[in-house]
Order: sequence, then C-alpha cells, then structure tokens
Amino acid sequence: MKKPRLGQNYLIDENIACEIIRHADLSNDQYVLEIGPGKGILTTLLLENAKSLTAIEIDPKLCLALIDRFNVHENFELIQTDALKYNYSQLKNQCQVVSNLPYYAATHILKRLIHYRERFTQITVMLQKEVVDRLVAVPGTRDYGSLSVFVQFYCEVERILEVSKESFSPKPKIDSSVIKLTPLITPKVQVDNLKTFFSVVNASFLHKRKMLKNNLTDWENLFQSNNGKTELAGINLSRRGETLTVEDFAILSNYIYSLND
Ligand code: SAM
Repeated sequence: MKKPRLGQNYLIDENIACEIIRHADLSNDQYVLEIGPGKGILTTLLLENAKSLTAIEIDPKLCLALIDRFNVHENFELIQTDALKYNYSQLKNQCQVVSNLPYYAATHILKRLIHYRERFTQITVMLQKEVVDRLVAVPGTRDYGSLSVFVQFYCEVERILEVSKESFSPKPKIDSSVIKLTPLITPKVQVDNLKTFFSVVNASFLHKRKMLKNNLTDWENLFQSNNGKTELAGINLSRRGETLTVEDFAILSNYIYSLND
C-alpha cells in the first residue's frame, strides 16, 4: 500500500475522538491549539468545547477544505504552515494542545512543543504506541532512554488511551496511544547546567548495552576508584544508563559541572 503522504492517517472512530476530548478536560474559557486538523474530526469537537481554536495544517488542499467548513466559527483560526518550523511564542494566548500528530514528525513536533512549554498548560496528543512506550518508560525497562528523560524532566506524563490501527483510514501498520503531558513550572530535579545535563544523558544512552564507564569517556579524568569500583559522584559506573533515574542524571551532571566550571 502507498505510504500516506505527510502522515495523513485520518481518525475515523468518533468514539475515540470523543474520548480524547473528554480526557483533555476542556472548558469554554480555554484556548486550544490543534496541530494537523486533517479532515477535522477533532476540530469539530474542539470548537464545541473550547473558547477558541487555532489550527496548524501544512497541506494546502486540506486548508482550503477546513476554511470552507469551519470559517463560520468566529473562534476558529487556521495557520497554514509547518508545525516543525512554527514559532509557538507567536501564539497570543497560553493554550492547551489537543492533536493527532503525523507519525513521521510526531517526536520532533513534541520536542518543539516542550521547547515552548511556557505557552502550554497541557498537551494531549495521539502518536505511535512505540513512541509513547518510550515517553512513559521508567528506569530499568527496555524502552527507557534519552527521550524518556527529556520529556519526564520537563513534564508530568500520563498515558491515557490505546487506539487500534483499525480506527484510522488509511489504516497504518501500527497502533497508537494518547498521552497527556503537563509541563512543569520548574523541573522535578535541580539541574545546575542544562547543557551538561543533556550531554550526560545523551552520552549515557549512546550505546545502550554498554556500562556508563564506557559511555561517559568524555569525563574519564573525573572518574574515581572506590574499593575496586569506578565511580562518579558516588554512582557506580559499572551500571548501564538505563538504570539511572532523572535524579541520578542530575547528581552526575551537577557534579561534572561543578568541577568543569
Ligand atoms: N487530526 C486529523 C485526524 O485525527 O484525523 C488528522 C491527523 S493526521 C495523523 C496528521 C495531520 O497532520 C494531517 O492532516 C497532515 O496533513 C498534517 N501534517 C503533517 N505534517 C505536518 C506538519 N509538518 N505541520 C503541520 N501539519 C502537518
């Protein structure tokens, strides 16, 4: 089957659409952003349940149809642009995001939304199940990695709904899940330098099966020997990155930053 262009697998199950809206807890004083409204299954419900809706859609043909259908609503605004490039600080109001994201760009769009997290009170999005597995993964599990740490550092993460591939047309190869992210006003752990923190996180997962001492070689000069164990900031470097909590990464990176500063 031809791969849908621009991740255009449309949701066709009205019950799922209603469930997504229900979980988003909208009220009529809220501003909402929808990325990729497509043929408008969520758009219709969002307009009924929110104060105002801004939609970002890249496909000009879909944009024409969306304007035709929804422009009668005074509280509807459509921006024809690429969600991967849009500067979300231009949004006039702080808002909630409710979207069914295109698979091919879902992780990048999500990272971008998190980058602009001060604009968003909540982000409820549907994306590939396997990506959601990674977003919610806890230490010591196969799916836990740098994406889990990045998202869980900035947001409260809640998995809310599983959606079968049968609920879309054209039918994708994989199932989807819906996730709710609540950006934190201050991250859960104290990190002294974000660049060092994310460098340590990324290096720790560089080769997932390797021990930390083989992944953190950039900081080899700071390694300490303790009773035959190699440690850094009291963390045994024979462990693998996947066993470290967000707090552990903060301990490691704050220590490295304090010595390299
Ligand atoms: N919301 C609709 C639904 O649930 O049926 C459509 C979802 S479909 C998975 C993804 C939508 O995102 C499509 O309408 C597609 O044209 C749009 N899209 C794809 N890439 C985009 C991008 N980079 N920026 C904005 N919209 C994009």
